Amino acid sequence: MSPKAAPTPENKAAVDKVSFYSAWCKRCGNCVAFCPRQALAKDEWGYPVLANPDRCTTCGLCEMLCPRAWPRSP
Ligand code: SF4
Ligand code: SF4
Repeated sequence: MSPKAAPTPENKAAVDKVSFYSAWCKRCGNCVAFCPRQALAKDEWGYPVLANPDRCTTCGLCEMLCPRAWPRSP
């Protein structure tokens, strides 16, 4: 699991619901490329991280586009 950003009252829902399990991640980049809010970024190994949790609306698109059904989102 990638480290999570420290939650604030405003972004707690996003930090709680968008997380990545690196053992399943293929590093395809779909989630990062297609997040409509640019909330995600790749870390130095190519794994996605919720880099801008304040931007995440918990829309679930990243999960829908993930070939491994990850990240977890509503
Ligand atoms: S839930 Fe939506 S806004 Fe949040 S990281 Fe995924 S695609 Fe982006
Ligand atoms: S879409 Fe899924 S497999 Fe691809 S980089 Fe994101 S979490 Fe990993």
